[in-house]
Amino acid sequence: MRKQIAAANWKMNLTYQQGEALLDDVLDERIKLQPHQQVVFAVPFPYLIMTNSGLSDEKNYFAAAQNCSDKKAGAYTGEVSVEMLKSIHVGYCVIGHSERREYFAETNQSLAQKTVLCLEQGITPIFCCGEPLAIREAGTQNAFVETQLQESLFALSSEQITGVVIAYEPIWAIGTGKTASTEQAQEMHAFIRSSLTAKYGAELADDISILYGGSVKAANAKELFACPDVDGGLVGGASLVAREFVQIIRALK
Ligand code: PEP
Repeated sequence: MRKQIAAANWKMNLTYQQGEALLDDVLDERIKLQPHQQVVFAVPFPYLIMTNSGLSDEKNYFAAAQNCSDKKAGAYTGEVSVEMLKSIHVGYCVIGHSERREYFAETNQSLAQKTVLCLEQGITPIFCCGEPLAIREAGTQNAFVETQLQESLFALSSEQITGVVIAYEPIWAIGTGKTASTEQAQEMHAFIRSSLTAKYGAELADDISILYGGSVKAANAKELFACPDVDGGLVGGASLVAREFVQIIRALK
């Protein structure tokens, strides 16, 4: 069975102490994960070491960065390289979240570079894709998402693509309280898998986890994750509340 993942995206929220308390509250639940289930905490850079040490005794729990540089190293003040993340044993990195695309002008091309750098260091990229509201209303969301995949991922080899996790996050559903319906989520996830199949073959496409993101909460996680092509979620707001995120983890199939 392919990996089923509950990924928390704390964004630029919580002090260090609040983050530590939240992590403890989630871990205190002692949720028993199946071997194919994983929990990921995408935390602010300065909290990565704390998160990693908090998770050191936990199997199938990982710390993630929310971003990385598209450059290897050098005179790029304020940037954080993938090699730096690797040196503190970060397991995952979110790539191309829509907030980074929108507010920091990240392009499909720079995201392709970030993805390759992560794969070279053995860090699993959680590659985000998804359409804005105007594209959904025009009914051209499939073509929009396919271009994101083609321009950022489809130069990867078969071996490389198996190391990628994809997160479909319709922008109109992020932080808005408006969730995609299970039909909308399943339809897009199936479309993404069919694009992967066309490029890499069915066997490989079947192994790639595709997470849904966009106002996932305890009340809707089970229904969304039950869709055959939805392999868990990337969760913003609800991941900041321990009892919500715990329920979301428990909703993994
Ligand atoms: C996200 O941050 O990726 C996200 C989906 O946020 P929210 O769950 O708050 O919509």
